[in-house]
Amino acid sequence: MSESLPERAEVQYYFGAGPAQLPKPVILQLSKDIVNYENQGIGIGEISHRSKTAQSIIDNTRENILKLLTNNGKYELDQLRKDYEVFFLQGGGTTGFSSIPLNLNSLKGKGGYLISGSWSLKSFQEAKRLGSDVVTLYNDKIENNAFKGCYKGDYSKLLEQEDDLKYVYICENETVNGIEYDATIKDLAKACRDKNVELIADLSSDVFSREIDIYDYGVIMAGAQKNIGIAGLTLYIAKKSLLDQIKANGVDSNLPIAFDWNLQNDNNSCYNTIPMVPLHTLNLVFQRLLANGGIKEQETINIEKADKLYSVLDKYSTESTEVEEKQRIVKFTVDKQFRSKMNVVFNLITPELENQFAKEAEANGFLAVKGHRSVGGIRVSLYNAVKLEAVEDLIKFFENFVNKL
Ligand code: PMP
Repeated sequence: MSESLPERAEVQYYFGAGPAQLPKPVILQLSKDIVNYENQGIGIGEISHRSKTAQSIIDNTRENILKLLTNNGKYELDQLRKDYEVFFLQGGGTTGFSSIPLNLNSLKGKGGYLISGSWSLKSFQEAKRLGSDVVTLYNDKIENNAFKGCYKGDYSKLLEQEDDLKYVYICENETVNGIEYDATIKDLAKACRDKNVELIADLSSDVFSREIDIYDYGVIMAGAQKNIGIAGLTLYIAKKSLLDQIKANGVDSNLPIAFDWNLQNDNNSCYNTIPMVPLHTLNLVFQRLLANGGIKEQETINIEKADKLYSVLDKYSTESTEVEEKQRIVKFTVDKQFRSKMNVVFNLITPELENQFAKEAEANGFLAVKGHRSVGGIRVSLYNAVKLEAVEDLIKFFENFVNKL
């Protein structure tokens, strides 16, 4: 076994959908802290989660999240501390979406699901399997036979379909299908507010990639392993008044104790053993985001990366008039309005061409661009740690590939 830290290339072009690349300074700091945290002679994964050191990391991580959610001063930190609770549980996105209907079971009413891709569909199926009272308010798959996007109509009318909703569930970015809510999410949030219904969202693949208004949500949950860390835990940000309501009503006896939001929150996320390496990783990512100007700065970079890539793909799309016919090789299923900035998903005109592209990309150092096994095609994930240069070089490679056809 090695006695020293390995080297790591400055730029590694990795476009995987998750687990995903982390910023190099984060990985370097993390590897040091795994060996020896703050010169204590022991690593971050080896200490008790109840130790003073671990407790202060948990507190600091929570504080950094709230600071990020102030949106550079739009909200007062003190107010956010009063209105929202931040806690972490062992798990990922799946434990996150299973925990939602169970924690909310004791409240009166139904959960309404908006299905815009594979993960919201899975979340709905899981809620049903768990015996919760849930309905679909919108299912893009049924309407189009393939996921194309999110609901485009009037959200207040959509919510009128059911008169006893307690929450509306969405997956804000569909990782498999490359579908992300656009600005119309504000209309959904308003419709929920007007009806006194909580908006509950899975942000596993777009958390902190763009600014959000936390006051639009009752609960946000996100698995850590894409934009903000490594696999092993789920981040929850929950409205305090909702947690209080659940507490007053008592929890469903079927809720596994480790996924009881109030119990975990009341125990500083330490009712059971919180994995400290993933948690500390989260905090390193948040410290870096704050030092770099907050979420808005990161969002600006993310918009530039996605815009550049989509505009080249549009140039070579089957609908294009800009290039010769033999170069029109890109096909999109997703409606332009809902194109994801995190997962750019498209097809090439034949599966053979897709395989050839993925193979040549890999050979040239552009790793993990194959689509999800359930949908095929190509998927280029552009999470926060993917640099603009990586996208620019991928674009050059793509243009060379097309020019050789
Ligand atoms: N939700 C979304 C949006 C996801 O992308 C994923 C995983 N890719 C999940 C949930 C499930 O996450 P996990 O594998 O951590 O359970």
